[in-house]
Amino acid sequence: MDIEQIPVLESPGRVLAEDVTADRDYPPFPRSARDGFAVRSADVPGELRVIGEVRAGEVFAGSVGPGQAVEIMTGAPVPQGADAVIMVEHVVRSGESIRTDRSAKAGDNFNPRGVEARTGETVLSAGQRLGFTEIAALALVGRQCVAVFRQPRVAILPTGDEIVEAGETPREFQIRNSNAWSLAAQVRRAGGIPALLPIARDNYESTRSGVEQGLKADLLLLSGGVSAGKYDIVERVLADLGARFFFDRVLIQPGQPLVFGCVGEKFFFGLPGNPASTMITFELFARAAMDRLSGCTEAPLPLLRAALTRDFRHKTGLTRFLPARLSEDGASVTPAAWHGSGDIPALARANAFLVAEADRESWAAGDDIRVLLK
Ligand code: AMP
Ligand code: MG
Repeated sequence: MDIEQIPVLESPGRVLAEDVTADRDYPPFPRSARDGFAVRSADVPGELRVIGEVRAGEVFAGSVGPGQAVEIMTGAPVPQGADAVIMVEHVVRSGESIRTDRSAKAGDNFNPRGVEARTGETVLSAGQRLGFTEIAALALVGRQCVAVFRQPRVAILPTGDEIVEAGETPREFQIRNSNAWSLAAQVRRAGGIPALLPIARDNYESTRSGVEQGLKADLLLLSGGVSAGKYDIVERVLADLGARFFFDRVLIQPGQPLVFGCVGEKFFFGLPGNPASTMITFELFARAAMDRLSGCTEAPLPLLRAALTRDFRHKTGLTRFLPARLSEDGASVTPAAWHGSGDIPALARANAFLVAEADRESWAAGDDIRVLLK
């Protein structure tokens, strides 16, 4: 897989192509986790004499002897001799002495040198996707640039005689090509580079030339033309190009006629054309393929659980994904009103999908149900 070096600040969302190691021990010194007093744990509870102070960014020159304490700030190095930090809230100060009725154990309230990472220890592994915590780790160890995998280029090929480009004015029996745009957004969010192809018409030549063009990318996503209709010819075109089909149906709705396969080294998905089908099958299947093509070692698909605000039932046999409103705290979920897989306004109003398991028919208000965030 191709690798490129990019500035760390431009790397969020990219996938790490190298292991990143600690350039020194972390923390590099025993680092106080609290504002308070560095002490010998054996001396407390009791009264101690304050012999000085150490702030973050300084080192205390002396050491803490029996009966002594050094005032210390969060982030400052714990002085020699001390083995614990007592929180300032647990101390009464009078002049040069402090008194505490708390006991302490060695190691309290500071991080010993090297507990977070030892010099040379791996802090990030190749295959991790870089988010804000990983970026912090890169900054921590002093990296300016980082090796990441090249982003997969994902061709998007809409099909359909009734489809016109989104910038055009459709005639009354035509609809705008929204799938290419929603897929482009999903591809970008999944860390890929979308390449939008012109709409293929529902005839052999047009579909074949679109597919041939699309197979030049790292991954081809087709929309439409995979149902059982007379003009659904995507599978025939792919078969003629020598495709291997891994599956051509999944037990979900929307999205049942999903097709997945490869032509030579190139993978493709034939996504069903109804907008909700296209969106859901991308999230459930194509995104995982993109994670793999991106060099990512994980392809997470987290589902939440939330309590239904009302009774809910569906027909068993297929796992259903239905637009829903998840409450702000994520605790409860309400099925949205919608008019089937073409209802884009309802999808846009929803903030999640209910996931109704194939083998369960009904849920009462208050029952937990799984939820996929959108
Ligand atoms: P198909 O899978 O080709 O049978 O398409 C199913 C339905 O999805 C069509 O009747 C269209 O209404 C709709 N559709 C197909 N392609 C698109 C697209 N690119 N954008 C929006 N809707 C589409
Ligand atoms: Mg069609």
